[in-house]
Amino acid sequence: MSLRSQLRTRSGLLRFSFARSCIGRRFVSETSSTKNTAAGAVPPVFDAPNKRLYSQIDQIQPPSSVGYLKTLSKKELLSLAVIGCVTINKLFLDVAIKVFPFVPTFLVKWLISSLYCGGDNFSEVRECGRNLQKRGISNMMLSLTIEDAEGTKNIDINHIVDETIKSIHEVLKPNILAQLDKAIDVNDIPPGYIALKPSALVSNPGHALLHFKDEAWKSHRDQLIANCSAITQVIYDLNQELLKKYPSRKTPFFVSTIDAEKYDLQNGGVYELQRLLFKKFNPKDSPIISCIGTWQLYLRDSASQLQAEYVRAEKEGYKLGVKLVRGAYIHSEAKRDTIIQPTKEASDLNYNNVMTTVIENLLEKGSKSTYGHLVVASHNYHSQMLATNLLKKAGSQAGKSNVVLAQLLGMADNVTYDLIKNHHVKNIIKYVPWGPPLETKDYLLRRLQENGDAVRADNGLPLLKSIFKSLFSMEPPK
Ligand SMILES: Cc1cc2nc3c(=O)[nH]c(=O)nc-3n(C[C@H](O)[C@H](O)[C@H](O)COP(=O)(O)OP(=O)(O)OC[C@H]3O[C@@H](n4cnc5c(N)ncnc54)[C@H](O)[C@@H]3O)c2cc1C
Repeated sequence: MSLRSQLRTRSGLLRFSFARSCIGRRFVSETSSTKNTAAGAVPPVFDAPNKRLYSQIDQIQPPSSVGYLKTLSKKELLSLAVIGCVTINKLFLDVAIKVFPFVPTFLVKWLISSLYCGGDNFSEVRECGRNLQKRGISNMMLSLTIEDAEGTKNIDINHIVDETIKSIHEVLKPNILAQLDKAIDVNDIPPGYIALKPSALVSNPGHALLHFKDEAWKSHRDQLIANCSAITQVIYDLNQELLKKYPSRKTPFFVSTIDAEKYDLQNGGVYELQRLLFKKFNPKDSPIISCIGTWQLYLRDSASQLQAEYVRAEKEGYKLGVKLVRGAYIHSEAKRDTIIQPTKEASDLNYNNVMTTVIENLLEKGSKSTYGHLVVASHNYHSQMLATNLLKKAGSQAGKSNVVLAQLLGMADNVTYDLIKNHHVKNIIKYVPWGPPLETKDYLLRRLQENGDAVRADNGLPLLKSIFKSLFSMEPPK
C-alpha cells in the first residue's frame, strides 16, 4: 500500500476513534463508504451512518408476539408459558437459573428443549428443518452443543469433528437440495451453516487460544486449525461441486462459521484462526466463499478491528466472511468497563453503522466485494429492518443474496415472523443447536445467563399477556 494510501487509511481510523469518543452523536463521514473502496485503496469507514434511514427505523414499533403465537400448538404455548413465568422478574429468573441444573433432563427435553433446540439426532434435526421451512425459514445454522470452555469435561474432540461433518451430509445437504430442485430462483434459498465454537475444538481451549502464537502451545494451535480446516474443507468441496450443478448461484450453498468467544480468547487466537481459514477457503477470485468469522459490535474496538482485517484481506488477496453480533458475554467479561461500549445505544449505533457499511459495499461491488458474505445475527428489530430496507435498494444481485438475517431458534420469533409475513423476507435462517440432551441443557442454561437482558425484555409478563391474547382473540394472524 502506498504511503498516501496509508495516510488516508490512518486518517480514516483516527476519524473513527474520534467518532467513538463522541458516541451518541452521529457523524456523516467526509468520504462516503461507497466511494473509497477500490481494491488496495482506503477501506470503507464505519462512521458514516445514514441519519435519515436510522431515524425512520428507530420510530418503527417492534411487532407484537400475538400473530406469531396464534400459529403455535397448545403444547408449544404451554412451554412458552413456563418460560414466561420464570422470566417474570429478576428474582424468578435467578431462582430458575439456580434450580435448572437439578430439573430432570427428560422434563427439560419434553417441556423446553423443542422450543430452543433442533433435537438429539440427525432425524430430529432434519424434522426441525422441515418445520422451519413451513414457517418460511429455508435454512439453519447448525451448532453441535458439546462444549468444554473450562477444559474440564474430557471431551472426545474427534467425535465432535466427525459428528459435525456428518451433520453437513445428513442434515444440511438434504435440506438445501430438496429446496434447490424446486426453487424458481436458486438464490432465494440461503446457505446452510455450520457454527464452530473454537473452544469446543481443541483440548485445553482457554490456554490454547490465549497462547495461540506461543511455540509452547503449537501442537494445540495445529490441532485447532486442523479440526476447523477438516470441517471447512468438506464445505468448500461441496460448494465447488454444487456450483457446477447450479452455476447461476451467487451465494454459498454451505458456510463454515467461526463463533466469537470472550475478548481475551478473540484477541489471543480466534481472529488469527479466522484469518488462516479465510486465506485457505475464501480466495479472492472464487465467486462464493466457504468460511465466515464473527465480530462482536459491543466491543469498543470491533469496528477498527474489522477495518484492519479488511485492509489485510485486500492486501493478501482473500475475502472476509462476516457474521455481526452485538455480543453474548456482557455479564461475564472481566474488563467490561474498558472493552465494552459504554451504553446499549453505543452498541446499537456501532452495530448499525458497521452493518450498513458492509451491506452497501456488497450491494455496490457484488461478487467483487472484499466482504464475501454477511450474516446479520441479531434479535433487534430495528437492525433487522434497517438491513431489510437497505436490501430493497438497487444493487448487485450477488451482493443481495450474500446478506442473510439470523436469529436463535426459539428467540425473537415475533421478529422472524414479521420479517417473513409482512416484509416478504426470504434471506432468513435460524441458529439451531442440537446434540445430547445433557449438553443442550447446558446450552439452555447459558441462554438464560448470557442473554439475561434479552430474555427479560422478550419474555416475562409481556409474553404471558400475548399468550393469553393469542388464545382468546378472534383476529387472524398478522
Ligand atoms: C445467529 C446468531 C449467532 C450468534 N453467535 C454469537 C457468537 O458467535 N458470539 C457471541 O458473543 N454472541 C453470539 N450471538 C449472540 C448475540 O451476541 C446476542 O444475540 C446478542 O448479544 C443479543 O443482541 P441482539 O443483537 O439480539 O439485540 P439486543 O437485544 O437489542 O441487544 C442486547 C445486547 O446489547 C448489548 N448491550 C446490552 N446492554 C448494554 C450496555 N449497557 N452497554 C453496551 N452494550 C449493551 C449486549 O451485547 C446485549 O446482549 C449470536 C446470536 C445469533 C442470533
